[in-house]
Amino acid sequence: MKRVIVIGAGVAGLAAAIRLQHAGYEVELYEKEPRVGGKMNQIQGGGYTFDVGPTIVMMPSLYREVFELAGRDPDDYIPMEKIEPMLEISFSPEDRLALSNDLSELTAAVEAVSEEDAQGYFEYLATLYKRYLIAKNSFLQRSFRGPADFYNPKSLAAGFRLHTLGDAYSSVSKYVRDDRLRKALAFQTLYIGISPYEGPSLYMIIPMIELLYGVWFIKGGMYTMADVLGRLFTELGGTLHLSEPVERIAVRGGRARGVVVGDEVREADYVVCDADFPYAVKNLVQDGRARGKYTPEKVDAMDYSCSCFILYLGLDKRYPQSAVHSIRFAADFKKNIADLFDEARFPEDPSFYLYAPSELDPSLAPEGCQTLYVLVPVPPISETSPSWTPDATARYRERVLDLIERETSYRDIRDHIAFEKAYTPVDFSERFNAYNGATFGLRPTLMQSNYYRPHNKAADCESLYFCGSSTHPGAGVPIVLMSAKLAVEELMRDDRAN
Ligand SMILES: Cc1cc2nc3c(=O)[nH]c(=O)nc-3n(C[C@H](O)[C@H](O)[C@H](O)COP(=O)(O)OP(=O)(O)OC[C@H]3O[C@@H](n4cnc5c(N)ncnc54)[C@H](O)[C@@H]3O)c2cc1C
Repeated sequence: MKRVIVIGAGVAGLAAAIRLQHAGYEVELYEKEPRVGGKMNQIQGGGYTFDVGPTIVMMPSLYREVFELAGRDPDDYIPMEKIEPMLEISFSPEDRLALSNDLSELTAAVEAVSEEDAQGYFEYLATLYKRYLIAKNSFLQRSFRGPADFYNPKSLAAGFRLHTLGDAYSSVSKYVRDDRLRKALAFQTLYIGISPYEGPSLYMIIPMIELLYGVWFIKGGMYTMADVLGRLFTELGGTLHLSEPVERIAVRGGRARGVVVGDEVREADYVVCDADFPYAVKNLVQDGRARGKYTPEKVDAMDYSCSCFILYLGLDKRYPQSAVHSIRFAADFKKNIADLFDEARFPEDPSFYLYAPSELDPSLAPEGCQTLYVLVPVPPISETSPSWTPDATARYRERVLDLIERETSYRDIRDHIAFEKAYTPVDFSERFNAYNGATFGLRPTLMQSNYYRPHNKAADCESLYFCGSSTHPGAGVPIVLMSAKLAVEELMRDDRAN
């Protein structure tokens, strides 16, 4: 039986490990942290339970696929319910827009703006659906090895039909006039760490995916997914090593031969790496030839997604809620985005996202209490980005709590914080080796997307494969699940040929 070592038990590493174990390989998974999940992690304290990173479940069929492949019923592992309303957006305390998956509710909400804009809104969704099918079939579900995989008439024609030049906000502006509706259809590019005012506009398909396929909640929170993937992997006979960081990938004769853990080489026929690609190629691949074009200088010069400052608040009371997921837009959203992507500073007036899941799952907080997850997009770590000293972090916390008290229904939140923890870009960098603390990996600019994103099979080293946010097809749980599938397909294709 051939041996595979997987580095990193993030959701992509776990999914890759399960796929390989199921396909008959002997798989060992090495994770530096004491528990599985990577950014899909969990914080517990004072009777409160929080998801660390991802909270919005989109494209549930991709979550379910890993269990189905292994012959399991996903409902036994990740019971899901659809969230309604899907999202509430506030542009000011008095100006809110609830987005629903229910077609008649959604129609009422957009018609309340104007019938003309409602028409444009639905036309735009139809356009996005067409582009989504092109992207899915031509780019997202296939990997690239060499130029011929991309520079061929079929792919180039598909790329042309995607109309990927331009940015999400300009693209929606051709269909709807109301600035609030425009923002409501453009801001989702932030889910993968790129500005809605920056191309490529391919990523404008995200709001369509939310609206057409729904937003879901997994009982116990997102961490349930990581936890049960870890369980499934060991049920299938895989070996999980926790708190065992890989120091480097052992390369000899142009081929990955295993990994080095604690000064010891652990041999394998193939290595799949889920540790963040820029970190991994710079630190774990020490053989210059195996790195290929990804030299340390190139890695440093690449563009990185935004990061996140998150407050995890355990509240000793329950506030009335109209939505599980809500977003507060900065009054000057364009400036907020410029602060993040151009000025590299903590936004003066930040937009933020609130997630309050204990309404759906009371087991996440003590009786009569609730959790609140507050996420503020911030710049990744760079020479000019905000410092995250305790003093600076405390100041940002105050600014965010001021806004929450002033503009949301959590008017006296400071009096009711019974448990608190914060994550900054430094935590994402130190705990999970997210390069520059960029929570969504390499920024999916035109020149860092599709064929131009790091491939799932290493170009200059045999038997080495990559998955995860910074590789093709990109960031977000469903998308990194695809990257795991593509990396495994590449490995098995090579194995069949050997
Ligand atoms: C705050 C936040 C909010 C998000 N919200 C959403 C959302 O709502 N919906 C959504 O779909 N996506 C969301 N995302 C994105 C999503 O979480 C990620 O794209 C996904 O979890 C990445 O998984 P991964 O397996 O690629 O990487 P990771 O989770 O980073 O996994 C990499 C693993 O490798 C380990 N590792 C690193 N170096 C080593 C080493 N040397 N040896 C051994 N192990 C190592 C790390 O510890 C980690 O466990 C969010 C992300 C963040 C941070």
